[in-house]
Amino acid sequence: MDYSAVIKEIVSELEGKKFGGKTATYIPELATVDENKFGIHLCTLQNEHCSFGDSDEKFSIQSIAKVFGLTMAYPILGEKLWKRVGVEPSGNPFNSLVQLEYEQGVPRNPLINAGALVISDVLISVLKNPKSEFLEFVKRLSGNSSINYNEKVAESEKETGYRNVALASLMKSFGNLDNLVEDVLDFYCYMCSIEMSCQELAQTFLLYANHGKEVQSGEMILTASQSKRLSAIMLTCGFYDQAGEFSFKVGLPGKSGVGGGIAAVFPGHYSITVWSPKLNKAGNSVLGMEVLERLTTKTGVSIF
Ligand code: GLN
Repeated sequence: MDYSAVIKEIVSELEGKKFGGKTATYIPELATVDENKFGIHLCTLQNEHCSFGDSDEKFSIQSIAKVFGLTMAYPILGEKLWKRVGVEPSGNPFNSLVQLEYEQGVPRNPLINAGALVISDVLISVLKNPKSEFLEFVKRLSGNSSINYNEKVAESEKETGYRNVALASLMKSFGNLDNLVEDVLDFYCYMCSIEMSCQELAQTFLLYANHGKEVQSGEMILTASQSKRLSAIMLTCGFYDQAGEFSFKVGLPGKSGVGGGIAAVFPGHYSITVWSPKLNKAGNSVLGMEVLERLTTKTGVSIF
């Protein structure tokens, strides 16, 4: 499959068209990003790479980092993890509070904010130096020591993330957080502030295309079963209340972030990242969804 030609064709089809969407502003630091940035990087398990536009520029990966948090926590806690967080799509926005109240503080899944706060709590409990150990873990997964937190973004979110404070406090009241609310929020905001380029993110997501085995080192980060389950969660929950539509139109497991990134995988074949900061109402990159829909349509292959 000539992915490079397919991506070129998609980019030329999109050129000059207006797709709308708005950059996230509720985290003030994210509002400073140029809304016209647009990057794509696809890499295959055979080490073929194709990229377009701003694919080498680092951006705030935001909720995509929740996948790395889960990748670290799952092997540590094993199946016990699912007592504290569910595996069902929420059908609600990523920062919704309503379900959490009537489901007694157990979040629907680890990829909505409440679920990622539980994962943060798990990691804080087991790691000696949670922030530095988590960063080392992401560096190891990506094979790239330049990966870092963006402190400005993390602090910006800590100052204004009132809904996350509410979610964490509600879960604490139900006994589903072991650590202090402020410690959980601090770790969570740093986790979301990690910056990566499309190229770096696609390279890291190859892990999930390779069924949990790190491509360069051959190391099993997740068992094949854990990787299958994590991909299933990405497919059903990776796009919040638009997970159904993403599955319907694209047909790949993936994860979006309010920084405008989307990372997706075709297990056994490739990983792809698209970055375009303008978001739709569900908080997913408009252009990112468009590119991926066209990719699986034109190549005629998805997981289905
Ligand atoms: N850090 C963001 C938040 O908690 C992540 C949301 C997202 O990327 N969807 O609101």
